[in-house]
Amino acid sequence: MNKVSFNEERCKGCGLCADACPKGIVVILTEKLNSKGYHPAAVSEPEKCIACAMCATMCPDSVITVEKDI
Ligand code: SF4
Ligand code: SF4
Repeated sequence: MNKVSFNEERCKGCGLCADACPKGIVVILTEKLNSKGYHPAAVSEPEKCIACAMCATMCPDSVITVEKDI
């Protein structure tokens, strides 16, 4: 399965990655806070990820790493 990882502590919860995902599977975890006080982003249904890396490309803080399953 493709893998999307988030460096949560660097995330500002801006939501750009969620807006960019063509599968609509990137979400902001409103119930969670990182140490900077932001709600971090995460992938809700990783099995639907197509590893397009749009989320990682859009992130201004290089929070996201996408690994394509080969
Ligand atoms: S790699 Fe593409 S499909 Fe997967 S979470 Fe990121 S934007 Fe969505
Ligand atoms: S674009 Fe980057 S900083 Fe903004 S919510 Fe997504 S992972 Fe966090």
